[in-house]
Amino acid sequence: MPASPVTTPEFDAPARSSGTDPRLDAIRAKALAGERLSLGDGMTLYETPDIWGVCELADAVRRQLHGDIAYYNINRHLNYTNVCALSCKFCEFYRKQGDEGAYTHDLESIATETRKAIESGATEMHIVGGLSPYLPWSYYPEMMRTIRRISDVAGSELNIKAFTAVEIVHLAKIAKKYKKPDRQAGIRWVLQELKEAGLGSLPGGGAEVFDDRVHDETHKSKIRSDEWLDVHLIAHELGLNTNATILYGHIDQRRERLVHMEILRRAQDRALARLGYEGDPSAFREPGIPATEDIDTSPITLTREGVEQPTPAMSARGGYFQTIIPLPFFPDGSELEHLYGPSGLENLRTLAIARLVLYNFPHVKAFWIMQTLAMAQHMLQCGADDIDGTVVWYDITKLGGTTTHQETTVLDLQRAIREAGFEPVERDTLYRRVERDGESWRVR
Ligand code: SF4
Repeated sequence: MPASPVTTPEFDAPARSSGTDPRLDAIRAKALAGERLSLGDGMTLYETPDIWGVCELADAVRRQLHGDIAYYNINRHLNYTNVCALSCKFCEFYRKQGDEGAYTHDLESIATETRKAIESGATEMHIVGGLSPYLPWSYYPEMMRTIRRISDVAGSELNIKAFTAVEIVHLAKIAKKYKKPDRQAGIRWVLQELKEAGLGSLPGGGAEVFDDRVHDETHKSKIRSDEWLDVHLIAHELGLNTNATILYGHIDQRRERLVHMEILRRAQDRALARLGYEGDPSAFREPGIPATEDIDTSPITLTREGVEQPTPAMSARGGYFQTIIPLPFFPDGSELEHLYGPSGLENLRTLAIARLVLYNFPHVKAFWIMQTLAMAQHMLQCGADDIDGTVVWYDITKLGGTTTHQETTVLDLQRAIREAGFEPVERDTLYRRVERDGESWRVR
């Protein structure tokens, strides 16, 4: 595709102090009362020049949920292959087999990485990769069993958080279980097999922006939103907690991001209803949102004061979305390199709006690996309560250069959180507090 001419994007100048836009008063009252915001409210939050008013409001809601606590974890990311059958336009990660830089890790090297992770005290392995046409189905459950065996021998409760929804669908295809008319049966089979082999939770990647126009223009061969939701809803039914993402700032419009959030919150209503939460049938329902009739239930809020937050113990009844992770698009190295990508202020605003709109998601993550630890500090003050973990290797995007070594220390994470005005709390994947005694750890 020929690159579009580069033009300077137009920005609304933000107000320098909060409290300057009276349109935010009604939204503030609704948000603090835990009432559902409309798409129109979301557009006002995007369009107001009073960005600091939006951030302050998100911070107030975040404090209703988490007080002055902010979470981090000790984790290791593992990208088992960058060989991918697809070629999404916004992706700088994938390679074709035989390309310079293409790699696939065998189970021996995954075992080595697992031992290193456990030795470093990690409580989580975060594993994602490309859709390799060259790896057999058996590689994936064997990967889970390998990690689980090493972890069990070491007496570790390491959580294997692995495979985005698009990978799960790919696995159902290579296992020859993804067949019409009941493709959901194939997804269920794969998730059950992986769970039995040791899978502990699902990350939230691959959601992009739930919109057919965006899908067809940027990642046409990838699964659509209905299949992404199928994977997560079935994972929840099987008692697996998952996360959700939104990859914004490429060809998407702000309204499309808000529709994406609306669809996510409806899917979360359904998960929380299974855990025993009662919805409010009289709550406002946004009309005209596509493709959710079969999952709709009464809206449930977690941001209202006094509402009990979902706990890992509840997962005996089913899983739920733990965290929304807004991910800004990075143009460098992708087919959409001619685009600008979102500005720092747009990133803060989108994160704050995610906190306000997704009032049934317990957590909002500032993913420092993509945005720097310095930016994550600002995000903690604009609605985020989590800054992810120590990481070490991350191949999906390469901040400020070509290296994939992106490691930070626990002390750096704790300092970043304290400087932002919060008390750092180490969590495991399921947001249980981690207690350490020398080299061993346990959750409570
Ligand atoms: S985004 Fe995922 S599916 Fe798309 S090309 Fe990159 S690795 Fe492959």
